[in-house]
Amino acid sequence: MKIDIFVPKAERAAFFQSKFEYYRTLSFFSAILTALMQTAYFVTDCQIFGRFAIETLLPRFSVLLPMLILIIINPKIKSYRVGAVLYYLFPHLSMWATIWTIWYLPNRDFAREGFIIMHFAFLAVGMGMPMVYHVIAHGFLFCNIIISNLWIHYETFDMMITLAAPLFIGCVLMLLFNHKTYLDHYRVVKKIEKDALTDQLTGAFNRNILTEIFDEQSHTLKAQFQQYLVLDDTSNAKASRVVTLMLDLDKFKEVNDTYGHEAGDHILQILSDTLKKNVNESDYVIRWGGEEFLVFLMGHSYEHGMQIAEQIRAQIASTDTGICPVTVSIGMSLYNGEDYHETIRKVDRALYYAKAHGRNQVIREEELNQQN
Ligand code: GH3
Ligand code: MG
Ligand code: MG
Repeated sequence: MKIDIFVPKAERAAFFQSKFEYYRTLSFFSAILTALMQTAYFVTDCQIFGRFAIETLLPRFSVLLPMLILIIINPKIKSYRVGAVLYYLFPHLSMWATIWTIWYLPNRDFAREGFIIMHFAFLAVGMGMPMVYHVIAHGFLFCNIIISNLWIHYETFDMMITLAAPLFIGCVLMLLFNHKTYLDHYRVVKKIEKDALTDQLTGAFNRNILTEIFDEQSHTLKAQFQQYLVLDDTSNAKASRVVTLMLDLDKFKEVNDTYGHEAGDHILQILSDTLKKNVNESDYVIRWGGEEFLVFLMGHSYEHGMQIAEQIRAQIASTDTGICPVTVSIGMSLYNGEDYHETIRKVDRALYYAKAHGRNQVIREEELNQQN
């Protein structure tokens, strides 16, 4: 039996962030409840004393101030690392509130029950946390007991530890299964997301990817891509832009008619592979439809975009497809931060010109404008 619970290092931060966001409401409310639990225990203190337990009032209510601070800053917590530190703090604060209270109680072994309940608080907070964080944060429960025993001298100290050990192991095991369940869920979601954005034949992106690159309302680049639009005025004003290419196989209908649809499909895969080989990881190769591809070169200079386009054209023309020689026509233009439909109109115009003037060439929309 293969237990598949390991997340590759490169994906770990994204996985933990996703898990944290999924469970954070549970983790947050568990942290709050552990603090509120102390106020409920104040009632039991009064029952123990048979009067208003004035001496345990401060220890029991001391956790409320950090709790209020957590409620205020919680919306600002974004990273799972910060969330883990702050949420795990509360079972510990709650334990120390109990330890403080115990000092005043006639029977100090009341702490035992309080500490047992804390395991459930750690379990609930731990649902959204990385396993290693949990083992460390929950493991400190033993430190709290051992350190406080130095001056409290619990009568049943040995029993406290022997009760805590299986509960700790049980919680870790439960969280391990929860980690595995979330990992399965995460992988399925990632696969569905990837499939929804991928063209099955060529492995290139399909049109849906545009909603990841461009804002749905303004149709301009999303905030995370705005860096590519910064003008580099020290050298070339056209540097750091997004270069757009529209490619279309030449006389492809003839290829299909002569060699069959399967042969045509194979050539489409070769074109897609060639495009992907010539661009960076951060660039986008999109199957626009049929035998047309759209490419966004992110952060390339205009000159570099020209080189890449020419390189692609030359490589396709010299590729041995095993079927027949093929060529591609390319329209190129700069994305200037406008509505991307406008850019597509520009590259289409350049492509149309390339088709009408001999095919197997790269035409820049900017050069057409200069001619006019
Ligand atoms: P042009 O140089 O003007 O672009 O000529 P063309 O024959 O390539 O242009 P046209 O748009 O008339 O033909 C496109 C062809 O692409 C038609 C269709 O058979 C083929 N095609 C579109 N999608 C696929 C596909 O998924 N697989 C295959 N094998 N062929 C496809
Ligand atoms: Mg076409
Ligand atoms: Mg064509």
